[in-house]
Parts: sequence; C-alpha cells; structure tokens
Amino acid sequence: QVLLKQVEKTYDKQAVVKELQLTIPDGSFTVLLGPSGCGKSTTLRMIAGLESATKGEIWIGNTRVNELPPGKRDIAMVFQNYALYPTMSVYNNIAFGLRNRGVSRTETKKLVYEIAEIVQLTPYLDRKPSQLSGGQRQRVALARAMVKKPQVFLMDEPLSNLDAKLRNQMRTELTDLHKQLGTTFIYVTHDQVEAMTMGDQIVVMNNGQIQQVASPLDMYRDPANLFVAQFIGSPP
Ligand code: ATP
Ligand code: MG
Repeated sequence: QVLLKQVEKTYDKQAVVKELQLTIPDGSFTVLLGPSGCGKSTTLRMIAGLESATKGEIWIGNTRVNELPPGKRDIAMVFQNYALYPTMSVYNNIAFGLRNRGVSRTETKKLVYEIAEIVQLTPYLDRKPSQLSGGQRQRVALARAMVKKPQVFLMDEPLSNLDAKLRNQMRTELTDLHKQLGTTFIYVTHDQVEAMTMGDQIVVMNNGQIQQVASPLDMYRDPANLFVAQFIGSPP
C-alpha cells in the first residue's frame, strides 16, 4: 500500500497541500479528483519523488521513501504530455526505461514484446512516434511505464490531450489494463465522470486538502460536504 502521513507541501511559506492523510490499498484504482490548482499534481509528484514533502511521511509498501530519489522508488509515472523520444522507434521508446537498469538485451526484448502485446502495439514497434495516432502514442507512453513492472503506477491526466472518442476508448482500456495487471493505479483528473467511472477509490481534494475518500457509489450517495456533492454532481 501507499501511505501518506500528514503530508504537507509549502512553496514560499504557502501550503499548497496540507494534512494529507491517505491510505491507498494495494491493487486499487485510486483517483485524485479536484478542481484546477487544488494540489493533485503536487501530491502525485511527491509520491513519485519529483517534489519533496515539506512535512510528513510517504510510504510505498514497507519503505519510507521521503529521502529516496524517483529512480529508487518502485513506481512509474505517465504524464499529460507523455513526451516520447521522437527519433527513436516505438520499440526503443518502450525499452528505454530498462536500458539504464542494466536489463539484458534478451530480457528487454521479451519484456517489450510482452507489454506491446497487452497494449496492442506489436504491429507498430518499428515506427517512429510521429507515424502513430494520438491513442497509439498514449499507449507507447503507458507501455514505457509498464515495462518496468512497478508496484505503483502514477498517472497525471494522461488522457487530457486526446479527443472525446479516443478518451472514452482509453478509459475502458485503462480499467481493463488495471484488472489485468493488478498493480496499484493512482490516477489524477479534474474530470468527475472519468473519476466515477474508472476509480474504485475516489479522493476528492480542494484547496490542498482532502475532502472525502470513498468508493464512487458511497460518495455519490453520501457526499461528505457541499463541495463534494457539487463537484461530483450528486443530487441534493
Ligand atoms: P491542475 O488540475 O490545474 O493540474 P493541480 O490540482 O494539479 O491543478 P498543482 O499543480 O498540484 O494543482 O498545484 C497546486 C498549487 O500549487 C497551485 O496553486 C500552484 O500554483 C502551486 N504550485 C505548484 N507548483 C509550484 C511551484 N513550483 N512553486 C510555487 N507554487 C506552485
Ligand atoms: Mg495538475
């Protein structure tokens, strides 16, 4: 599990997230949901190690990771602007994360083909990212993260650059992928529909603080406060 214990992040003495107390169960699809600027990305980046926590503790499994650099944490992250390497083939884009981990060529090939099959990229392994559709590129970004077989998968609005149709398709693909892998997903979005349809645990944030943690159904039926009710569109 991932555990946040009274985590706080301040910039110039301003707390942008505070009193974060959260348990993310192993294998869950946890969604961080909230309006722009509420601290979702900051929270995710602290779990990833891209930002340090000003206060509190962050645990991944049995490891307190506060002082661990991103490369030493058992995580992989997919961003909104999933920058792929434009001059590299799809194969090399996916394999890239394994290279600097000292994985052998044979093992790399095995892993890349395995993942490519899961995300349906096998026919495209020799192409460059520019020769792919938006959805295919998104899958390359996912594959590049997945190939490392992390304990925890962090995603920050990974579908926001896609058109509505593709976004819908990718939502389904991601939930299927989650079921298939059984890995913990922590997924950031400001889209309540996305959260409610994909997540099994929703964390609503506002002004840097957690408002409620619940399953989609429980949250819909019994929102903790007016903010949550309005944000997720629960009936009054
Ligand atoms: P969005 O949905 O727009 O991506 P978010 O919930 O991900 O929003 P964050 O990126 O976590 O929000 O930002 C939370 C707050 O922290 C914002 O008010 C932002 O301006 C502030 N912030 C983020 N990074 C920094 C920084 N490096 N220095 C100062 N303030 C920052
Ligand atoms: Mg953000």
